[in-house]
Amino acid sequence: MTAELASETARYLEQAEEYGAHNYHPLPIVVSEAFGAWVTDVDGKRYLDCLAAYSALNFGHGHPVLVDAAKAQLDRVTLTSRAFHNDRLGPFLEGLAKLAGKQMVLPMNTGAEAVESAVKIARAWGYRVKGVEPGRAKIIVAEGNFHGRTTTIISFSTDPEARADFGPYTPGFVAVPYGDADALAAAIDDDTVAVLIEPIQGEAGIIIPPDEYLPEVRRLTRSSNVLFIADEIQSGLGRTGATFQCDNAGVIPDLYLLGKALGGGIVPVSAVVGDADVLGVLRPGEHGSTFGGNPLAAAVGLAVVGLLESGDYQRRAAALGEHLRGRLEALIGRGVLAVRVAGLWAGVDIDPALASGRRVAELLAERGVLAKDTHGSTIRLAPPIVIEQDELDWAVDQLEAVLASLA
Ligand SMILES: *Cc1c(COP(=O)(O)O)cnc(C)c1O
Repeated sequence: MTAELASETARYLEQAEEYGAHNYHPLPIVVSEAFGAWVTDVDGKRYLDCLAAYSALNFGHGHPVLVDAAKAQLDRVTLTSRAFHNDRLGPFLEGLAKLAGKQMVLPMNTGAEAVESAVKIARAWGYRVKGVEPGRAKIIVAEGNFHGRTTTIISFSTDPEARADFGPYTPGFVAVPYGDADALAAAIDDDTVAVLIEPIQGEAGIIIPPDEYLPEVRRLTRSSNVLFIADEIQSGLGRTGATFQCDNAGVIPDLYLLGKALGGGIVPVSAVVGDADVLGVLRPGEHGSTFGGNPLAAAVGLAVVGLLESGDYQRRAAALGEHLRGRLEALIGRGVLAVRVAGLWAGVDIDPALASGRRVAELLAERGVLAKDTHGSTIRLAPPIVIEQDELDWAVDQLEAVLASLA
């Protein structure tokens, strides 16, 4: 394989293979530059990015407003730690809280940290506010979930690849089938402090629950005094044609977990967003992060909030998504078994008799389209929202050509 690859690419692949831990299986493309929806590799070949770093690049590569905010901040101050205040953090916290219609924000860095933070907050809320007996707090999650890679988070993963050989596991979690409100209702008891779910399961293959599911989760959690935590790290911030996928479902969770696009594809920025009756349980010294809320992250995060305030990106994702849906549904029966589309986010189930998802992703890359397989034979499409409709059409044309070549 390596011998066929252009020389620059081969050199970088060998280096990464030799010196990097093998915890990923990337496509053999070495990116050196990117702008908007396009990336260029070290050999000068251009690709249309239809993954957008798993939605961390919702606003595209090098968005001028975000890059300007970062560059201006680099020249002022980049890190203070939370031992002091910084003049970017307050505006970011206020802007994000207001965007979400909530009172408070806990700033962290990675998505997994936002999830870990929410687990701690929910447990503390359970003991201090709900009155759960010490050590008994239970959090209900969904089968097929993806919430990150820390030891506690993989403890409640149902994916053997994510969990096996990494135990002993953190107790206190129960998994129920996703999209099944009755199963959730049956699992809630007096020790339950929270239900943690993705409004759409991204890594599982863009799994969209039945329309009544999220409203029913909201109703059940409210009536049993349980927190509803929505992990919108991948589904939020424009991707599904709304600020939050919960908006599309007409529900307001107690806590939003945000990450990925919140950092504009420039720096890791995550957050837990909620009202004071929940987030207010944290006391000084109980939780924190050296880099959480740093001025560079806050400056970029504030600029991201600014982009979302107009609603333009949300509307654009919704409109392009409808177009994408039409194009993808036309492929059903022609190498595609099923498609699931939410805004500019699609899971395309390739007929496994034709090829694996991995093989399709490789063939797409040869044709200049970057996409990623997930769970065997599903291809995930999540281009930057700045993509043009004719570019999106071109990407689907390439998928069509790949499928035809395999038939
Ligand atoms: C990516 C992701 C995470 C973890 O975010 P990291 O920044 O990789 O730690 C958590 N939840 C969901 C839904 C995600 O998509």
